[in-house]
Amino acid sequence: MSDLKPPQLKNDCFALPPGVDWTPVDDALDRLKDRLTRVVSEKIVPAAEANGCILAADAKALRSNPPGANAAVDGYGMAHAATGDGDQLLPVVEGRAAAGAPFDGTVPLGSAVRILTGALLPNGVDTVVLQEDVSSDGSRIAFKGPIKSGANTRKAGEDVQAGNVIFASGTRLGPTELALLAATGVTDVSVYAPLRVGVLSTGDELASAGESFDPARTFDANRPMLLSLIEDWRMSPVDLGHAPDDRVALRRILDAAAERSDVILTSGGASGGDEDHVSALLEETGSLADWRIALKPGRPLALGIWKGVPVFGLPGNPVAALVCTMIFARPAFGVLGGEGWKEPQGFLVPAAFEKRKKPGRREYLRARIRDGRAEVFKSEGSGRLSGLAWADGLVELPDGEMDVTPGTPVKYLPYNSFR
Ligand code: AMP
Ligand code: MG
Repeated sequence: MSDLKPPQLKNDCFALPPGVDWTPVDDALDRLKDRLTRVVSEKIVPAAEANGCILAADAKALRSNPPGANAAVDGYGMAHAATGDGDQLLPVVEGRAAAGAPFDGTVPLGSAVRILTGALLPNGVDTVVLQEDVSSDGSRIAFKGPIKSGANTRKAGEDVQAGNVIFASGTRLGPTELALLAATGVTDVSVYAPLRVGVLSTGDELASAGESFDPARTFDANRPMLLSLIEDWRMSPVDLGHAPDDRVALRRILDAAAERSDVILTSGGASGGDEDHVSALLEETGSLADWRIALKPGRPLALGIWKGVPVFGLPGNPVAALVCTMIFARPAFGVLGGEGWKEPQGFLVPAAFEKRKKPGRREYLRARIRDGRAEVFKSEGSGRLSGLAWADGLVELPDGEMDVTPGTPVKYLPYNSFR
């Protein structure tokens, strides 16, 4: 027994192993971008029901917005040509122009007409004077000149012209897009069927929340997290349940999953250990790419194709699983789902923290913005699941070394920027 000594701890035990080829994050992303193509089919749906859908063809305005020249304010309309400098006094014609109830006839040169916001400009009117700038006795108005030609009016088609492409194919439709589609008369759109993303947790240690309080069991945190993330991303989550560390069972589950998913996310069992059956099964298909990505947290990423369906084998650790899903799977889902490669839009904010970052791998820190500065979670421990919920996003530190002190600009990626 005395000749069996524990290995000595080296103080660089967390450093990258020598001689191992770590793929930089950007190289890994470039490879994904090059190799994937769209897998979803097209369908026509009513525009009003297309919230969250991705356009499969350019959407064109069927009419201009606004469709006709109209008043931008409540006031009085007239021809600018009959106005000038100094005090102006104009007779007001009978009747009025209101939104949806145009003035019938022509306003004579030198006369004014009562006009309300949104009303089509009557014949003879090209300019509107704001009601508050006018005094009126019912039959005449007085105001101070000069006024600008075309003041307080909107030109026909000044926003969008009929026939213009309003949204390109690949655009994800949301509430604001639906508004413009409606305003320009588009009733039906060609969209892609939502990407069906299967989510499978693996590991004998897993139990569903509340199922067993045996401390040897881990409650499955990844499945509810990833399923709801997919839903937030306006894709179609497919709950594939939980697979034991058993190759035969896992094979059966993957076979069934491939029937009802366009892409599969597995978590756990991806790192090539004894119980890492996801890697092992993907290896059998000959499609396994075991990516050792220079990334913290979450280095091992097993990618493969199972029965024609791409599989992202994520690390089991929930922090690493979330980061890998956001950084690698999300842009890839864009391509698979017809949206195109989609990178999150981050922005630089002053750091509220201090950190000496070593060179070698890109790091994602759980972060949030307070008072315009990026705070990071007190611990970088990847088991600290509470930090995911504490955070509103990630701070991305570059592959190289970086000395962050309070005020240093750092890149912040809100969780929502992956949406
Ligand atoms: P693995 O990648 O399978 O080696 O798992 C790494 C760590 O993540 C282990 O501590 C697992 O228990 C844990 N883990 C794996 N899957 C999940 C999950 N679905 N929910 C919570 N923790 C998990
Ligand atoms: Mg496992």
